[in-house]
Amino acid sequence: MPNVHHAVGTANHRSQEVCGCPSWVEHWRRSAGAQRRTCVVHGCQNRAEVGAHVELRTGGTWYIIGMCQSCNLSYRGERFRVDERTWLVEAASLDTCVRRR
Ligand SMILES: [Zn+2]
Ligand SMILES: [Zn+2]
Repeated sequence: MPNVHHAVGTANHRSQEVCGCPSWVEHWRRSAGAQRRTCVVHGCQNRAEVGAHVELRTGGTWYIIGMCQSCNLSYRGERFRVDERTWLVEAASLDTCVRRR
């Protein structure tokens, strides 16, 4: 299971400008959410409500994951485990952004 942490400095990184998706959670849904609708944090069963920016290592690629509000607030500044690598969606313009708009 991949270990991730919240990326820092993502406030101005807007999906509307990066890829055209209305929100980051929508970006995640279009890519990964066909198979997964729940929070990707290991052991959590809540519905994914927010798209959070995470990194596998500091300064690395930004990924979006679907998280519930509770987990999103709980793991600030800490590393946490995501069920599978599959649920990490790059925070970049993807084919899925356009195809399923
Ligand atoms: Zn997108
Ligand atoms: Zn959760």
